Amino acid sequence: MRVLCSWCYNTIESSELNDDQEVMCPDCKKWHQGATEDCIKEFLENLPIPVVSIAADNTIITTNSKASEIFRLEPEKNFEKKAGELFDCKNSRSAGGCGKTVNCMKCTIRNLVLTTYLDGTPREKVSVPVETNENKKASLTVSAVRVKGNVWLRFDEWMIPE
Ligand SMILES: [Zn+2]
Repeated sequence: MRVLCSWCYNTIESSELNDDQEVMCPDCKKWHQGATEDCIKEFLENLPIPVVSIAADNTIITTNSKASEIFRLEPEKNFEKKAGELFDCKNSRSAGGCGKTVNCMKCTIRNLVLTTYLDGTPREKVSVPVETNENKKASLTVSAVRVKGNVWLRFDEWMIPE
């Protein structure tokens, strides 16, 4: 059986798969479990898909250039930004800001980050509906894994209004 790693897209032998929810090759698994901050940036950069590392309070820690491209980010200005600002969530500019409004309690991304951070169980391909500041709909399919003290969000699919 031929399976592709959901992170690096390399082929995985079926014998290397275990019962985890996620499909991850042994190389990526090693990174996810033991990488140091320095190497994490390089590892993320080499992945063929957009990945954003986020702290439990929704602050963006780092992004790879694929993610910067689809979310139109300037990498050096990402810090201090919150997850909702990636896709201009309409709550991210409200009083209190991203993660602090009443609506944020039911935000799929916020809860995905929080639950993955708390229980360490990877989540695969969660569908995330978002409404932007201009009342446009964005839709994302996101996977999450806890790496050290942060959560990596992998964007498997994205539809972001112009
Ligand atoms: Zn891999």
